[in-house]
Order: sequence, then structure tokens, then C-alpha cells
Amino acid sequence: MLDKVLIANRGEIALRILRACKELNIKTVAVHSKIDVALKHVKLADEAVCIGPNPSPQSYLNVPAIISAMEITGAEAVHPGYGFLAENADFAEQVENSGFIFIGPTAEVIRTMGDKVAAIQTMKAAGVPTVPGSDGPLSDDPEFLKATALRIGYPVIIKAAAGGGGRGMRVVENEQVLLNAVSITKTEAAAAFGDGTVYMEKFLQNPRHVEVQVLSDGQGSAIHLGDRDCSLQRRHQKVIEEAPAPGIPEEARQAVFESCINACIQINYRGAGTFEFLYEDGNYYFIEMNTRVQVEHPVSEMITGVDIIKEQLLIASGRPLSFKQESIIFRGHSFECRINAEDPVSFLPQPGTIQAYHAPGGNGVRVDSHIYNGYSVPPNYDSLIGKVITYGRDRDSALSRMRNALDEMVIDGIKTNIELHEDLVRDSEFKKGGVNIHYLEKKLGL
Ligand code: ADP
Repeated sequence: MLDKVLIANRGEIALRILRACKELNIKTVAVHSKIDVALKHVKLADEAVCIGPNPSPQSYLNVPAIISAMEITGAEAVHPGYGFLAENADFAEQVENSGFIFIGPTAEVIRTMGDKVAAIQTMKAAGVPTVPGSDGPLSDDPEFLKATALRIGYPVIIKAAAGGGGRGMRVVENEQVLLNAVSITKTEAAAAFGDGTVYMEKFLQNPRHVEVQVLSDGQGSAIHLGDRDCSLQRRHQKVIEEAPAPGIPEEARQAVFESCINACIQINYRGAGTFEFLYEDGNYYFIEMNTRVQVEHPVSEMITGVDIIKEQLLIASGRPLSFKQESIIFRGHSFECRINAEDPVSFLPQPGTIQAYHAPGGNGVRVDSHIYNGYSVPPNYDSLIGKVITYGRDRDSALSRMRNALDEMVIDGIKTNIELHEDLVRDSEFKKGGVNIHYLEKKLGL
């Protein structure tokens, strides 16, 4: 078992990782920026090291400072959480080259999955269903571009191989605008990501976002923890997630789960990971793999009883998976609402001091949050201040528990999106289940 883990993150996920370490009797090191000295996990960790000033490039993205903190404290392994350095292959490589353990897959796998063209080719080869597309980078040859788009069928989408965060994409409706769109996307991708490689895919009109959680030990065993539906999004940011994804035929689900497990084994995947799909008219289309724990991991934990972060720690300590697929029992339904410090109408971030905080509770209610009375939300980072997660024996009861939990929750002193969530969990279409990725923006009139 690992002896001491450095947590290279902040906020709710840092606290979540700390709790899992404590359960496994692993010592913890918190690293933090100046302003984050008051974070809950910093106070609860065995040791804490300030790694730099508030801007994340100088602290949470400061690789030499993080590796020095590992050396000084004698931490054996680093948990990157999500965001920041979690999918940075160079960081993973430097950690391992310095003789430490990176809690996640190998740098090589992170690199492959970070290149969307390479990721799609790898997944296709492993039998994972992908979006009909160019199956490789686009050249400048106009005839090739036109023929490719015709074969796929309009509308198509041009995407940057190195893109991320919903940026570097352009939808093309017809041949008149094709060549221009390809050349603009290439130029933009080169400027934004330092890599002008682009590829082409069929543009799906009204898909849902459905993803599959996997755990794989890098020793030949992999399991899935079912699926999640994260279609309720604004500007490609997930707002509410649930597990399982409602209303999908069981046969199709099982087939996609199996393909994900096969892919994990083929690439010798190590750790927790997520296969993201667009789902439309009964078909799954792979879009990307996230090689880290995700914000919405708790909903899968609620319906399986598996602690995903603990499993990450166990896998990193070299143990084979502690579960076989047959021993995972799926039970009930779970929702997660992401609570952000933001204006519920303009969505602008709302840093400031929390004057009063009352967390909801009761049967089937879980709150993953680092906030407390008097905590000041800094302006420097993501606006996520917590997650309300509910569980119920079926979708309706999980949703009614969410309605109660949100009504009970009080955060005074700053604006939050609780109101928006209270409205969404009462929305008649959302209640039915299975809305597509455009539903929220349409509802908001965006
Ligand atoms: P990123 O890494 O930037 O998040 P993704 O490839 O995951 O990029 O795509 C982000 C979002 O863009 C998807 O969730 C979906 O809303 C939209 N998108 C991407 N590819 C397609 C496609 N082929 N058809 C329709 N929408 C797409």
C-alpha cells in the first residue's frame, strides 16, 4: 500500500482524495497557493506546502514546485484530481522519471488519448463505436476534403486534434463553405493549441452525452461501473449528471460496456477512466476518453457502492482490481447537481465570503464540498464550490430527494446557481429523462 500521497489539486476534489487516503491509512500532503491556505483539506492533511502565488500557472500548474514538494515531504505518489495537471502527459512523465508514482495511466496512454485523432484510431481498432469521419488528419487537397465530406454526409464538423474544453470546432453545413472552414479551423488550432492538425466527423444533430466509467489495473483486468448521462450542459459544461443513463436499451448498453473493457485491456489502461460518447437514435459514437477521475464520479459510486478514488489508490499501489465484473451490483439511481459560485442569470463567477452555510442531509443525500461558514471563494479558480448528490431506489425517488436537498441548502453571502438547479429538477422534460445536449441552452434561451 502507498505510504504517503501528495494531492496536487484544490477544492472539493482535494478533500475527496484526502478522505479516501485517510480511510486507507495513507498519509497526506496538501499543496496549495497562497490564498488557498484556508482550504479545508489543507487544514486536515498531515502536511501542507505552499507551492506558489495564486495564479494557477505559478502554483497548481507549477511542475517543478510540485515535484520539489514531493521530495521535501517524502511523498511516494501524486494524485492529480481533475483539471490542472490531471491529463498532462509531460507531468506524468516527469513524476515517474523523478522516481515517484503518478496516480493514473502511463504518460504514453495520456498522450495518445490527448490526441483526438490517435484516440479515435485506437478506439476504432479496439472495437469501440466511433463517429463516421475522416479517420485521420485532413490534408489541404480540396478534392480529398470534398470527397471526404460527401462520403460522411453534411453537416460535418471540423475538429482540432489537440482541442479541448469545447474549443477548436466548426460545423460545416455544405460544400460552399467547406474549404474555408477547414483552413480557418487549422489556423485557429495552430494558434490555440500549438498544433494545426484537424479532422472531420459527421455532425450529430441532437445527441445525448452518455459516458462509461471504467477501472482497469494495468495487469490485464478491467471492469465498468456502468454509464452516466451528462446531457444537461451549458457551453459544453456539465450542470447535472445522473447514473444510470435513462431509457437506453439494455442490449446496446451492454455491448458498449464490453467494447470499453476490451479497449482498456488492449491499451493496458491503468486507473480510472471515462469513455465519452454521443448517443443518438440508438447508436453510440465515441468522442473522447478522459484519463482521470471526473467531477461526476460520485453518481457511479452511489449506484455501485464502489469508491472510485480508493480504487485509484489501490491500483497505483500495484494491486490487481479488488472487484470482478460479476460482483458489481447496480442498484437504484443517482443525480448530481454541480453547485457553482456564479450568478444564476448571467453565469458570471461570484467570488466572495460565505456568510452562512447549511448543507442538506437526510437519507440518500451526499454533499461533496470544501466550503464552510466564513470561507472566501477566491476569484482565481473554477467556480465549482460543491456537489449535491442524491440516491434513490429509482429515478423518481432520487430526483425528489434532490428537490428537497436543494430546497434545504443555504449558501449566503455569494450568489450561486442553486436557484437554477431548483428550476431544472422540476422541469417536465428533464423529469421524463433523456433530454439531448441542446436542451438546457434552448431552455435558457441561448
Ligand atoms: P472537448 O475535448 O473540447 O470537450 P469533444 O470532442 O469532447 O471536445 O466535444 C465537445 C462537445 O462538442 C461534445 O460534447 C458535443 O457537444 C460537441 N461535439 C463534438 N463532436 C461532435 C459531433 N461529431 N457531432 C455533434 N456534436 C459534437
